[in-house]
Amino acid sequence: MTSSGLLLDIPAPTALAGPSDIFTRRESNVRSYCRSFPAVFATSRGATMWDEDGRAYIDFFAGAGTVNYGHNEPRMVQAVVEYLTGGGIVHSLDMHTVAKRAFLEEFERTVLEPRGMAHRVQCPGPTGTNAVEAALKLARKVTGRRTVIAFSNGYHGMTLGALAVTANPQARAGAGVPLPHVRVAPYEGNHGMATDEALEALSQQLRLAEQEDGGAAAIILECIQGEGGVNAASPVWLRGVAERARAHGALLIVDDIQAGCGRSGTFFSFEPAGIEPDIILLSKAIGGVGMPMALVLHRPEHDCWQPGEHNGTFRGFNLAFVAATAALRHFWRDDTLARSVATNGAIVREALLDMVQAHPGCALSVRGRGLMQGLRCEDPALAARIGRAAWDRGLVIERSGREDEVVKLMPPLVISDDELRRGLAILAEAVHAAIH
Ligand code: PMP
Repeated sequence: MTSSGLLLDIPAPTALAGPSDIFTRRESNVRSYCRSFPAVFATSRGATMWDEDGRAYIDFFAGAGTVNYGHNEPRMVQAVVEYLTGGGIVHSLDMHTVAKRAFLEEFERTVLEPRGMAHRVQCPGPTGTNAVEAALKLARKVTGRRTVIAFSNGYHGMTLGALAVTANPQARAGAGVPLPHVRVAPYEGNHGMATDEALEALSQQLRLAEQEDGGAAAIILECIQGEGGVNAASPVWLRGVAERARAHGALLIVDDIQAGCGRSGTFFSFEPAGIEPDIILLSKAIGGVGMPMALVLHRPEHDCWQPGEHNGTFRGFNLAFVAATAALRHFWRDDTLARSVATNGAIVREALLDMVQAHPGCALSVRGRGLMQGLRCEDPALAARIGRAAWDRGLVIERSGREDEVVKLMPPLVISDDELRRGLAILAEAVHAAIH
């Protein structure tokens, strides 16, 4: 397997065969990403994926921010293989294992202690939405309050608690039951809302929660909204949100499930703002090579859980601990990765600005930070055409936003210079083709 692909020479991928294929015949209609990327993938390495026919694709999606360290990062794969062949225990509920101890020690040493964070580490079920459920339960238990403040365009997951704080109307409709005890405040920049205006609207929601329901238990937010359209909040607004949470006795929950683990340029997305969230949620990339894993970090003084009060069979998957430990060891003991995200983020920015400039009158704009950036199209149909044209040219890239109007660039953080530049060249070509 080689990642020195022949990307621009590959034939255009064809759609899957008709209704006779097993996916169409048997898999639930709920399947989604496979509709945007109709190939049968077989292997992957770094920022390249290959389908079963050997066609190469540059991956600017990275499993929605899961394979930040690249597909099949060799050192992580080796650590997992050695653990398995050495007879390491794979499943252990939440019993102590050497793999969990090694992870906790590495996480404490590499992430928590250098940032002066006393936070405890809770292992919920391995998905992001489960971490959100745990955080909401804990905030309600700590404060004795019910209402949670969420933001317009926010995305936190599909289970009922997480869905209640998720904005997307279509996703909410899927609940089939009311999703109560949530108040929505406007995210900075939504509907052209300026920083002060958005903060005042938040204060108002906090006051209403006090008048009507004894106050807010928590404010939950993404510092960069992923599914909501790559909206990167300003440090000023983030500090304003944190101040208001404290003033009103609400816990601040930062959902760093998509924007965390270096995606924004720092390990946590809130670091440049200098805020100290009470609860931080990680999933996706924390599992290293895409192993399912989630974490809830909460302050020790809030650790009022009874043993087993947020239980689950898969809280602490040892292969994920092994991969996660390797990831922290190899990528976070120094700032090499963070610096390369800054460099690559600047390359992406420049390329996107060039695309905007090349098509004046098309109402394109650039958003995001780090390696989480987006090309917003005033016309959602144009974004859809760009996504398809990119796919036809061998680039896996997703769209997000209320109307899927933002083409979202999230390559693996370790993408090579060559792959990054070729991916951006394909995207520029796709934008041109979609417009002309
Ligand atoms: N929070 C954020 C910010 C997310 O982006 C996602 C997933 N896209 C989730 C929560 C839910 O994670 P999961 O899909 O693993 O349940």
